[in-house]
Amino acid sequence: MKSVAINGYGTIGKRVADAVAAQKDMKIVGVSKTRPTFEARAAVNKDYPLYIGIPEREHLFRESGIEIAGTVDDMIEEADVVVDCTPGNLGKANLEKYKKAGVKAIYQGGEDHELTGLSFNSFANYDDSFGANYTRVVSCNTTGLTRTLSTIDPICDIKKVRAVMVRRGADPNEVKKGPINSIVPNPPKVPSHHGPDVKTVMGDIDVTTMALLVPTTLMHQHNLMVEINNDVTIDEIIDAFEKRSRVMLVDASEGLGSTAELMEFAKELGRNRNDFYEIPVWRESINIVDNELFYMQAVHQESDVVPENVDAIRALLEMESDNEKSIAKTNKAMGIL
Ligand code: NAD
Repeated sequence: MKSVAINGYGTIGKRVADAVAAQKDMKIVGVSKTRPTFEARAAVNKDYPLYIGIPEREHLFRESGIEIAGTVDDMIEEADVVVDCTPGNLGKANLEKYKKAGVKAIYQGGEDHELTGLSFNSFANYDDSFGANYTRVVSCNTTGLTRTLSTIDPICDIKKVRAVMVRRGADPNEVKKGPINSIVPNPPKVPSHHGPDVKTVMGDIDVTTMALLVPTTLMHQHNLMVEINNDVTIDEIIDAFEKRSRVMLVDASEGLGSTAELMEFAKELGRNRNDFYEIPVWRESINIVDNELFYMQAVHQESDVVPENVDAIRALLEMESDNEKSIAKTNKAMGIL
């Protein structure tokens, strides 16, 4: 049984904690917060030992009656691996701590690839992180792109990818972020960082991306145009998506024609927090015109990277050498289709 610490119990951290707790071969030894919020209280109620990221704030936790087990420095001493889910750009300072403590660490997509020199996706490059000290699970958008592109590449032999990503303006709990009434090219340059990020896990694939922000909090939506070398049929593409876990074909004709309806469907799945771990691909959107494949997909930004973090733990700690076996274990424990 391996010991996992979660540094930063926010949107991603609390989900990774529950996913780790659901596995048979790993356990949570601590999670961290910087303020005594409802999430800190919820962590304690779940029996996750709570550590504080900013030691000077200990009195705030005491005044709120929230019991703490120590500081982040204490927490990482207990762990075989730390999953760093702090907001982007704290990574460099935290890496010094992890190195000093001799503990392995997994970062998230808010950090640059250069921080670890290694990025991770369960399907595309699990082996690269096997036994490594540090890796980085690519962002929600990059995970979504990689999941479907790595599914079709073996049958299509991808020549070139162009993708336009319509991104949610904020997560549902981010009351101070927008836009409220605007479409914002973000970044207003080409390529967006997503294309180069896909290359960190898929090698020298030719992929260029553009992205914009819109006033929604539910999901991202991607539009892909993929030039392919092989002659394949739409049915072969559908078959490949059907066989791949963590990708789900959905039908607009069954009332799943929007991100709002997809999130309503996620409630029917009865998952923790109504999460949608799979990448839904609209079946009707799949088309091939003159050796160019088109499809549309969505990404539940709060949860698609969560199973990847669990697999990254198994890779770093050499708990499972076969990525498919780790994926199967993670999927079973999390109820992923
Ligand atoms: P968040 O703001 O929801 O949570 C961050 C957590 O870190 C908070 O609980 C905060 O209390 C804690 N924290 C802040 N400073 C800290 C410190 N010094 N020490 C310890 N903990 C500290 O952020 P998030 O959305 O969960 O994002 C975390 C990472 O995941 C980022 O790299 C982000 O880019 C990436 N990511 C986010 C999403 C998303 O849509 N939210 C999707 C994929 C990847």
